[in-house]
Amino acid sequence: MRLPYALDRVAPGARLAERTYETIKSAILTNRLPPGTALSVPELARQLGVSRSPVREAVQRLIYDGLATHAPNRGAEVSTVDIEDLRQLYVVREQLEGLAAQLATAHLDPDSLDELRAILAEHERVLAEGAGGADGADGANGADIEAHIDLDRRFHRTLRELARNPHLNAALEPIAGRSHFALHSLWRSADAPRLALDEHQHILDAMIAGDPEAAGEAARRHIARLRVRLSQARPRSPDPARPRRRSRASAG
Ligand SMILES: [Zn+2]
Repeated sequence: MRLPYALDRVAPGARLAERTYETIKSAILTNRLPPGTALSVPELARQLGVSRSPVREAVQRLIYDGLATHAPNRGAEVSTVDIEDLRQLYVVREQLEGLAAQLATAHLDPDSLDELRAILAEHERVLAEGAGGADGADGANGADIEAHIDLDRRFHRTLRELARNPHLNAALEPIAGRSHFALHSLWRSADAPRLALDEHQHILDAMIAGDPEAAGEAARRHIARLRVRLSQARPRSPDPARPRRRSRASAG
């Protein structure tokens, strides 16, 4: 798939490589660069208005993240999503996020509580502002979706760090990154951000109550809900090698 004209230019200045990486990553996470898109270094550099070297570095990092893959003779392209693989990833993520919330409860101090509350308040503000413009599954605009994804990632990253177990963090971080990418490229609906925020609030409430078991349970339920939704997911760009059953095609 050819690279669509979907990227904003990266302003020159400090941290150019980092901002180039974040810009491409965000375009992948929000499906502006759908699975299978060829990540041509010269074309990306042209669209972003930067030289090739930060783009090359960004593409290497995206391959490391699992968001892009190296296709023989074709260069890098945005990873395609294998639903069964993703379901298995979620089985693991469910347990690890539960453990993270459980361990994080013991380390909740006033500073981290402030931080988590600020993330939820910001998330609430983004959803309240976006609600006026959203009119359906794809009604929310790109900026709202990016803000939602970013706040969801920040909430889970803060919990992981608060768990203070480097082995858990090392296991969970790449899983969380890949599962965000896959879920958002597969499936979106207008109520998803609201459900996610309510569930984050439940996790934090249990942590504030000092109940690690309940916090772990709330985190597992949150991820399990996403996993169940995956089994109902349809790829946004259908894979011609594996056609859907015909009865689904007319279901609208
Ligand atoms: Zn979440």
